[in-house]
Amino acid sequence: MRVHSADALLLEVGDLSDGDRVVSFLTAEHGRRRGAARGAKRKYSRFSGQLQPLATVRLTWFEKDDRDLVRIRDLEVLHSGERLRRSLEDLLLCAYLTEHVSVFAQENDPGPELFRLLRSVVDALEEGAAREPVLRYFESWILRIGGVLGYELDCPLCSRVLEDRAVLPDSGESLLCPECAAGGGGLVVGQGTLDLLRRTRRQSPSRFASGVLAGGAELAGATAQLEELLLQIRRRFLGFELKSHGVIRETLRRLQAVEKGA
Ligand SMILES: [Zn+2]
Repeated sequence: MRVHSADALLLEVGDLSDGDRVVSFLTAEHGRRRGAARGAKRKYSRFSGQLQPLATVRLTWFEKDDRDLVRIRDLEVLHSGERLRRSLEDLLLCAYLTEHVSVFAQENDPGPELFRLLRSVVDALEEGAAREPVLRYFESWILRIGGVLGYELDCPLCSRVLEDRAVLPDSGESLLCPECAAGGGGLVVGQGTLDLLRRTRRQSPSRFASGVLAGGAELAGATAQLEELLLQIRRRFLGFELKSHGVIRETLRRLQAVEKGA
C-alpha cells in the first residue's frame, strides 16, 4: 500500500454505502482519482461538511495496486469554494464544470494544465466574474487541453491562419479555412468569434470575462456563435452531450423567464 499527498480539487461527491462517501478529485500530479471517505456520512465524521464540489483541499490517501478506488486518510480544506454553491445556478454551474473534468481527465494520468485551468476558473467565479464568458473560456481550454482544439488557429489542411472566417464542417471537429471547406456545409464563424477564441488563449478568465462584458451588444453575436461552435466541437469529439448541459440551459432559461415576468 502506498500513501500519497497532493492538493486536489474535489469533483463529484456521492454515496458509497450506509456511512461512506465516494469522491472524485483532480490533482496536478495524479490526474483524476476516486476515493472512499469512510464514515463521511456520520454526524461527527472528520470529513463532515468538507466534501464539497470544487473545494480545494490538501488530501492524503492510500492506494493499492489492484484497486481503482483509493482510500482517503486526511483532508484539509485550503479553499472552501463556498461562494460557488450559493444558488441553484451556482450548483448547476459546479455540476457542469465537474462533469467536463470527469469526462476529459484521464484517471491516474498527470494533468497539471487541467488542474490550473479549473483552479483559475474557480477563482474567477468566486471573485464575481460573469458566468457565461467564464464558461466559454473553460470550454475552449478544456478542448485545447484535450487535444481537440489547436493552440494556434490555423487550417489543419493548408496551414493558413484563420482570420476573417472559418468553417466547422458538418461532420468535422476542426475549423477549416473557407477555401478548404468550400463546397461542404457547416457552421461558418466570423472574425469576432475567432478573435474571442484567440483571447481565451492569451488572457486570464477574469480578464476575458470583463472584456466580453465591456464589448456589450457589439460582442453579443460573436459570443453566441462561440458558444455554438464550442458546443458542436465538444459534442462531435465526445459523441454524446454532457448530462449537465441540457439541465443548465433549461434551468437558466426558466429562471430568466421568471425574472422577466416578475
Ligand atoms: Zn485551409
